[in-house]
Amino acid sequence: MPEKHIIAIANQKGGVGKTTTTVNLGAALAEQGHAVTLIDLDPQGNASTGLGIDQDRRGRTVYDLLAAEAAFDEVALATDIPNLRIVSSTPDLASADVELAGTADRTRRLARQLEAAPAGSIVLIDCPPALGLLTLNAMVAAQGVLVPLQAEFYALEGLSQLLATVQQVRQSANPNLRINGILLTMSDYRNNLSQQVEADARATLGELVYPTVIPRNVRVSEAPSHAMPVLAYDPSSKGSVAYRQFAKEFASRLNLVAETA
Ligand code: ADP
Ligand code: MG
Repeated sequence: MPEKHIIAIANQKGGVGKTTTTVNLGAALAEQGHAVTLIDLDPQGNASTGLGIDQDRRGRTVYDLLAAEAAFDEVALATDIPNLRIVSSTPDLASADVELAGTADRTRRLARQLEAAPAGSIVLIDCPPALGLLTLNAMVAAQGVLVPLQAEFYALEGLSQLLATVQQVRQSANPNLRINGILLTMSDYRNNLSQQVEADARATLGELVYPTVIPRNVRVSEAPSHAMPVLAYDPSSKGSVAYRQFAKEFASRLNLVAETA
């Protein structure tokens, strides 16, 4: 059984498609037969809500995991999608930053708990829109960072700060960390700007940028209010097709990494 794959989905900007990508990449990988666990590491809990995890099922959350008050198997909840589980979050996660700040192992809390994730499974961590202690915990736990970039003006702004943070984590707590890739999201092909941002990103970042680009698609934005991934809400929508194709590229990139490691 291959080692488990842990990928942090991070960008300190809000609204770039982190949560949408976590949920739909997770659903697509699960559909393709992989065992997937999502970690909702954002106090807003959008990934949990988007997968229909009601508040009354969030008795034990990622907060308890970080506080070492519960184990991985106790907090990983089943979803309506076969092969897809989620560790949910609630707003009290916002105080974890302050509460962990004084502890010596504050950046390793999640890493330690994810040692219990099943071998061969894929863990996707939906990070909050900040480079604080929560995102650091994700980067220390992960082998890869997937960066969604919204195909709009200023898309590349802030990226150097994100890459510098990854570099710092590599030099300290997690030498194995790599950039898994860059995913362009919410692209509008009728809009010249989207095409220009894509061209810029490919010129600057080369092969790090995934071939598949996620189009702006209203079905993608409607799906969370129906408490499901777009793959379940409208399986043949452009968004579903794109996330399925991206999931194949993502899986093969993981295998390449595993084979050459
Ligand atoms: P983040 O987690 O980075 O803050 P979200 O994934 O929550 O970003 O996305 C921000 C908003 O954009 C949400 O309302 C989401 O539904 C919408 N959105 C994300 N991706 C798409 C897409 N491909 N097409 C249309 N709307 C999208
Ligand atoms: Mg989010």
